[in-house]
Amino acid sequence: MIVRATEILKAIQKLNSAEKHRLREYLIVALTASSSTGTVLHEISERKNKNGYECPDCESEYIVRFGKYTTIVDGKDVKKQRYRCKACKKTFTDLTNTVLYRTRHLNQWIKFIECMIEGYSLRKSVDLIGNITHVTLFYWRHKLLSSLKQMDISNFEGIVEIDETYFFYSEKGQRKIKDRKPRKRGGSAKKRGISNEQVCVLVARDRDKTTFSEISGMGRLTKDQLDKAIGHRLSNENILCTDAWRAFKTYASEKGMDIYQFKSDGKIRTKGLYHIQNVNNYHRRLKGWIQRFNGVATKYLNNYLAWFQVLESIQHQRNEVTMNDLIIKGNLIENRETYDTLRLAKFTT
Ligand SMILES: [Zn+2]
Repeated sequence: MIVRATEILKAIQKLNSAEKHRLREYLIVALTASSSTGTVLHEISERKNKNGYECPDCESEYIVRFGKYTTIVDGKDVKKQRYRCKACKKTFTDLTNTVLYRTRHLNQWIKFIECMIEGYSLRKSVDLIGNITHVTLFYWRHKLLSSLKQMDISNFEGIVEIDETYFFYSEKGQRKIKDRKPRKRGGSAKKRGISNEQVCVLVARDRDKTTFSEISGMGRLTKDQLDKAIGHRLSNENILCTDAWRAFKTYASEKGMDIYQFKSDGKIRTKGLYHIQNVNNYHRRLKGWIQRFNGVATKYLNNYLAWFQVLESIQHQRNEVTMNDLIIKGNLIENRETYDTLRLAKFTT
C-alpha cells in the first residue's frame, strides 16, 4: 500500500503529545545521522589533504588513486577512495591511523559521538548504540579522547587566570592493587593538606577562553612543572591572576610578568579586572561533570580533561554542527593507539 505524504501529515496531527515526542526523536535519529555522514567524510578528506596528498607512512607526496573500498553507512555500502604511495607502495585512505580507521559502521560511530556529548556511561551507551561490545566502546572512547588530547591550543592573550585543583590518585579498573587500602576513588580532594598522593591538575584560561587543563604531577605544583606545562604559551605581555601559592609568584618574577594573587580565604576576590573567578568556575563545572564517572583512573584523567575541554568549547550542546565538528576534529589527527596500548598504559608524570 502506498501512503501519500498528505496522509502521513494528517496522521501526525492525530497523535497525542507523547506520540509526537517519540516521532520527533525517531526522525532526528533517522534523518540527521544519514545526511551528515557523507558531509563529514568529505570534510575530513578536504581538511586532511589541504596541502595535497601525502603518504602517512613515508611522507612522500607521490600519491595515486588506487581503487575504492567499502564502508557501511546506515546499513548501506558506501564506496570511498583508496590511495597508493608510489615511493613505499603502501596503500592508505583518508582515515588511516585515525579513530575511524577500520570502523566499518559509521552510523554506530555517530551514535557513539552523541553518547559522548551527553556523557553517558559505557553501559548506557552500549544499550543505545546496539550491537556493540563494552570493550569496543571503551576502545573508541579512549582513542577519540587521545586524539582530542593532542589538539594544540593557541598562545594565551592578555590576562591569564591560573589555578590548580586536586584529584585523588586512582587505579580504578586495575585488577591487582597491592599494598593499598580501598578508599574513595578518583574523587576530588581539598587543597588543604595536599599530599604527594594527590594528583594536581593545572588549569589556565585567558579571557578569550583559550584553556589549558592537564595533570602537572603528584602533590603541590612546582615552578618547573608550571613552566613545562604552559611556559611556551606565555610571554611577559601576559598578566597572571593566581591563588596565593608561592610557585606562581616566583615564576612570575623570574619571567618578568605582572601577577595578581588572591588568597583562598576569599576576603579580597577581585581587583578591578583581575580575579580568578573564571578558572574557579571552570574547576567547579569540571568536578561536577566528572562525578558521573564514579572515579576516573588517573592514567586516563588527561583524556577526560581533554573531553571536558571540548564539551566546554561546544557549550555541552548536541546538534549537527557540534557532532560533525567533534567527528572531524577527532579524525584529523593520526592516532596509532590500539586496545592493548590504551589498556596497559601506565600513569607517569
Ligand atoms: Zn609512502
